[in-house]
Amino acid sequence: MLDYRSDTVTRPTKAMKEAMMNAPLGDDVFEDDPTINRLEAKAAEMFGKEAALFCASGTMTNQIAINVHTNPGDEVICDKLSHIYYYEGGGIARNSGASVMLLDGDHGRFTAEMVKNAINPDDIHRPISRLVSAENTCNKGGGVIWDSEELEKIALVCKRNGLSFHLDGARLFNALIETGESTESVGNTFDTISICLSKGLGCPVGSLLIGDRQFIKHSRRVRKVFGGGMRQAGMLAAAGIYALDHNVERLKEDHERGREIAESLEEGSWVRSVMPSQTNIIVAELNDNVSQNVVLDKLKEKDVHAMGFGPGRIRFVTHLDINDEMIQKTKQIIQTLL
Ligand SMILES: *Cc1c(COP(=O)(O)O)cnc(C)c1O
Repeated sequence: MLDYRSDTVTRPTKAMKEAMMNAPLGDDVFEDDPTINRLEAKAAEMFGKEAALFCASGTMTNQIAINVHTNPGDEVICDKLSHIYYYEGGGIARNSGASVMLLDGDHGRFTAEMVKNAINPDDIHRPISRLVSAENTCNKGGGVIWDSEELEKIALVCKRNGLSFHLDGARLFNALIETGESTESVGNTFDTISICLSKGLGCPVGSLLIGDRQFIKHSRRVRKVFGGGMRQAGMLAAAGIYALDHNVERLKEDHERGREIAESLEEGSWVRSVMPSQTNIIVAELNDNVSQNVVLDKLKEKDVHAMGFGPGRIRFVTHLDINDEMIQKTKQIIQTLL
């Protein structure tokens, strides 16, 4: 199966499973699981922050962050394509009773000027602007990378106006491996950071929320209320430690393979254009006379699995379980599809 639906489809490797089998365990609700404690300390240190919290998913880490940063009725500023708004089931309203101010950015990336203009004045008619959230890389934007200078400018606007700044870094390492920027610099820019272990890093489960001690203490309470307190989950944390040690550098390979898919799609007679691809997400816009369902079905007949990504668009994601041989095969199928 040539499975490009998402980078979440990877299976843990033998070496990762061995790390999981050998993990010392305890009850994490009592903060007694040595492997989870090790992973949380490792993640906090990587970003130069005080603490971290291991959670079941990136949706959970984002939603906990929003809940801790805001009070009901407050407003979250984010891009209209952001996962926290578009793909988390209305959780901002449902879990935290917060309002949203959507920005119309460039493939999910907005500017400090846009944030400045989106902050509500101190007027009893308006919600209180409380949190800005950015997503790097931006999924719905086609896996694009942010300019770190712009992020720093946004951080300054947040600081001057008393807003918190959160990063949905589900695919942060895909960005950092391309730019060469450090995790510490990301830690300096944002108040809180969410990273996913179960995307490009290849773990079966897990995300981390990273921030200062007080914030993570409060987050631990919210995680429990959301039903996310886990017990001997150190086996999952062991996969996370393994992934951070072994699967970050190799993301470059996913990007190279992504570029091959993008080039192949650009030559495909049925493709109008390919969104600017910088990482492992490739989004193709189909020609007007080509049906999305027909393309997806024909690909599936050849055992190539991609995903619809809005009207007239399909998405391919490269990952740990896609190798060069599979890319060559996929390119041939793309070229001769229609
Ligand atoms: C996948 C993803 C998440 C988290 O998704 P889960 O499936 O809940 O782990 C968050 N943000 C972005 C940008 C994502 O792509």
